Amino acid sequence: MAWLAPLEAPDGVRRYGLSCPTDGRSVGEFTAATAEEVQAAVDRARIVQADWAKTPVAARQALMAKALQLFIEQHEAYMEVIIGETGRSEMETLIMEVFAACDTMNYYGRRAHKVLADKTVGLHLLRMKKGRLVQRPLGVVGVITPWNGPFILALNPTVQAVLGGNAVVIKPSEVTPYSSKLVQQLFDDAGFPEGLVQVVLGDGATGAALIESGVDKVSFTGSVRTGRRVGEACGRNLIPVNLELGGKDPAVVCADADLERAAGGVLFGGMMNAGQFCSGTERIYVVASVAEAFTELLADKVRALELDRDIGPMIHGPQLDIIREQVEDAVKKGATVLAGGELAPGGRHFLPTVLTGATHDMLLMTEETFGPVLPIMVVPDEDTAIAMANDTRFGLGATVWTKDKARGERLARRLMAGAVVINDSSLTYGALEMPFGGRRESGIGTTNGAMGILNFCQPLPILTDRFGTKEEAVWYPYTADKFDQMKKAIKVIWGSPVRWLM
Ligand code: NAD
Repeated sequence: MAWLAPLEAPDGVRRYGLSCPTDGRSVGEFTAATAEEVQAAVDRARIVQADWAKTPVAARQALMAKALQLFIEQHEAYMEVIIGETGRSEMETLIMEVFAACDTMNYYGRRAHKVLADKTVGLHLLRMKKGRLVQRPLGVVGVITPWNGPFILALNPTVQAVLGGNAVVIKPSEVTPYSSKLVQQLFDDAGFPEGLVQVVLGDGATGAALIESGVDKVSFTGSVRTGRRVGEACGRNLIPVNLELGGKDPAVVCADADLERAAGGVLFGGMMNAGQFCSGTERIYVVASVAEAFTELLADKVRALELDRDIGPMIHGPQLDIIREQVEDAVKKGATVLAGGELAPGGRHFLPTVLTGATHDMLLMTEETFGPVLPIMVVPDEDTAIAMANDTRFGLGATVWTKDKARGERLARRLMAGAVVINDSSLTYGALEMPFGGRRESGIGTTNGAMGILNFCQPLPILTDRFGTKEEAVWYPYTADKFDQMKKAIKVIWGSPVRWLM
């Protein structure tokens, strides 16, 4: 059985077949774009972008509003494609893809003019100059995406880049190409210039070709392993890159937590999208005094989940082997399975799983699982919980569960993570005002944030002489007088209370 299978093809051609994760029916075949085809897409994008950069921001915003309206009208057709490729439930597709897509188009669409407006900048030292800061698009942005959120993870950076005046070439995951292709369809249908947003279908080699094709920035979302290669290639080409990579998010359950809420929230954080969520909960540290009660609550909730209604199949078949290997390793090393622990009959789902007795000797506590599995480790106190939570190569998200909000914040500040949520799960990518990104191996740079569009712009400072004096104090010729004046100035400006005015 295969979700994505290479097909027979002539020499030098890479062809793939895709089947629906739910029932195995064929959902399409495609040929990976060659390096020449990728180059042609980038060349075309560059021509279209030159005009797009001159399009007033208000006109870009108007088109984005049109795209939003179209999407709302047609979202069911979009969902059908996404569900065919991912096997996800309608509810999860609505939350993760549709809801989030509407918000990103509206949020950035409504704010682009403010973010991109020229700014006058007061200069603390060069007071004879006027400072203006102008934002210019980078050019053509390459967006490379994974399979676990195939529409939104392609759409979100594209919305920000396009509003910033860039063209975009998307290389989606070979596992879910058609959901990402919808992004191009949406922009075309809304009336954006043809060629401004293009999707090239293909595999890793196609993604590598995109990086080599002269793009001006790469926005990459995917695994740590590929992220390293992408970072190396971007470094060699000297192009900026955003790396949004994997995670191993901890949940810290304090002694004073509302246990019912903590169990429900950790369950959602760990099981949403069948655990195939970069910032999903992957390990739990619970303080001993409440461990038994919390574990019982969580195990009951896990047992109550229903396949397909609550937990979909794995979007990518080989993920099942990774999860099974990690669970087997944990059991061999002493963990106890309280629910699930194996593949469901039919071999397409992994049963929602909770285990106790987890330790950091187990792969389940150290490697990204990306499945519906929640391992629990009991710790004597919160300090130990924080130390264990930080004992990782990753640093994407984390959650803290406590009734004492001040304690929650204190603990949050000690966590090695890109974002921390107190008493809730899986929210951070949706809080568009906040930058989203990982520390350590979870990534470089951030996406989103109030100023997210600026991730795709180059700031251009323009300094203008205000008074038109004949010459400046430091211009040629260098004289003894000028040298003395400069020495005096240093003393007066920074060696006296004048520095408080600087
Ligand atoms: P992956 O790294 O295998 O693939 C990601 C993309 O990179 C795909 O489009 C793939 O074709 C492409 N690719 C592969 N080799 C390449 C190369 N040499 N050069 C350029 N592109 C190449 O990741 P995946 O398995 O599709 O996705 C799952 C991973 O993504 C998980 O680790 C998950 O945590 C991570 N993820 C992170 C975030 C985040 O925002 N931090 C969000 C979603 C998923």
